[in-house]
Amino acid sequence: MTPDDDRQPRILICDELNPAALEVFRRRSLEPEVRTGLTEDELVATVPGVDALIVRSATKITRRVLEAATELRVVGRAGIGVDNIDTDAATERGVVVMNTPRGNATTTAELAIALLFSLARHIPRADRLVRAGGWKAKGLMGSEVSGKTLGVIGLGRIGRIVGERARGVGMKVLAYDPYLETEGPGGTISGVELVKLDELLERSDFISLHVPLTDSTRNLISWERLAKVKRGARLINAARGGVVDEEAVLDALTEGRLAGAAFDVFDQEPPPADHPLLQRDDVIVTPHLGASSREAQLRVAVDIAEQIANFIQNGVAENAINAPSMPAEILAEYSPFLRLAEKMGSFLAQRIGGPIRKIELSVAGDVSKVGVEHLRLALLVGMLRHSLDAGVNFVNAPALARERGILVLESTDDKAVHRIGELRVRASERAGGKSHRIEGTVFGREPRVFRIDDVSLDLSPRGPLLLTRHKDQPGVLGELGSILGRHGINIQRVELGPPVGSAGLAAGFLTLYELPGPDVIDAVREMEAMEEVQLIRL
Ligand code: NAD
Repeated sequence: MTPDDDRQPRILICDELNPAALEVFRRRSLEPEVRTGLTEDELVATVPGVDALIVRSATKITRRVLEAATELRVVGRAGIGVDNIDTDAATERGVVVMNTPRGNATTTAELAIALLFSLARHIPRADRLVRAGGWKAKGLMGSEVSGKTLGVIGLGRIGRIVGERARGVGMKVLAYDPYLETEGPGGTISGVELVKLDELLERSDFISLHVPLTDSTRNLISWERLAKVKRGARLINAARGGVVDEEAVLDALTEGRLAGAAFDVFDQEPPPADHPLLQRDDVIVTPHLGASSREAQLRVAVDIAEQIANFIQNGVAENAINAPSMPAEILAEYSPFLRLAEKMGSFLAQRIGGPIRKIELSVAGDVSKVGVEHLRLALLVGMLRHSLDAGVNFVNAPALARERGILVLESTDDKAVHRIGELRVRASERAGGKSHRIEGTVFGREPRVFRIDDVSLDLSPRGPLLLTRHKDQPGVLGELGSILGRHGINIQRVELGPPVGSAGLAAGFLTLYELPGPDVIDAVREMEAMEEVQLIRL
């Protein structure tokens, strides 16, 4: 992006950032403004005329802020998580959102290793003892980590570094990550034995979690799973609160099944002072310190400054999480199809609910002239985001897909009912497994889905979607509506599919205004006519 006029591009840094970022800008003859701690109203008043915004996690870039930022082209997050940026609103306005995925993996992995040693040698407890005037090492008998087995759950960026470091101190490393191919390009994960979760739980002396928080990882370490761990194992969570059932860990510690646990993250942060885990001597806690090292903060500040400068001066969108590197004019025209492809990927990942091995993408109509490549990338990004942390982008998506053994077959088709263009996608599990299909187009600038499996419909893929397969009998819709109504959930739109298959089940697609809780889904599941219910977030 190079502004046509002679005006200096305006870059606004909204959160505390390592001063090295300013140095990067200065070297590139750019002069950012620094204004931290602005409220939403102050931001709205400040952003008109600003070309680039830089945040960490404190400042929220809401739809209102984006609407006020008429000149804005890019929002940069120094760090990974982009929960504080309304990326949908940014994409709709053609604003690129970028993060710095490389920045803090090593730092977080090192914290996990530090916690592992602290658990093995009771270091925090020993420190407390000496400060309280004690010296006797009673109750502080440690264990060597050398020769022990570490189970890494989630072998992504951080999990891999943890695995490498653990091998370096003489540990045997097992890993569980159902999305990775066990055969194939295992070079990066050599020295790590990929196993099933139960086997990892049964064999590991230390278990370290490195998965994102998703529907499939919520309460991954549950009471039932803890019942399978080797007696005396120790657990480390430096991933996300919510992947561990904290009450179940408490039971496992009380019962002696776990000999210790370390938490850098909690369900509720900060945890309440009377949290039972904080009262225990065999538990180590740190205040979400994973990414807190000078090196990581320096790296993310320098990375984001270089990326923003590259975007402003050369038009290259590195680590863009919502847009590929393509000229801004094409991007603006093309972006509804990219959003559609991303939503379709997201739908299929959730509908299949596990590893996908094959995707068939067919692009028809005018949109195929712009090329299939970016649509394929958007589809992969939408799909992979459900099993990976926020670091998936248009650049690394193909490599991540390859590593996960996902085969993408693509084709173009001249014939399209909607001349502007259509995307048709089928995704399948490993041979012989489940497969689902979705087809869509763009009306105006809005993505629309017109087919899901065998059902023709007209669906705007935005918001929570409740999908049902139910017996085709009177009263089902009324009952569904009253369950949702009882829980204060409003329905935006209902689409129904006719009975199909030997079981003659009808299908329902209910777009909701609010996200229903698990109790609502359970109540729907218990309806006499209900055979299947699934909540999909779009
Ligand atoms: P990543 O996306 O690179 O890797 C995540 C891995 O988990 C992927 O390989 C994925 O296939 C795997 N996975 C997904 N669902 C799974 C499941 N159900 N079972 C097993 N494996 C599954 O992410 P990353 O950058 O390595 O980050 C890992 C975690 O660490 C994330 O939750 C991230 O938010 C967290 N994190 C915490 C801190 C901190 O301050 N404590 C700092 C950075 C990252």
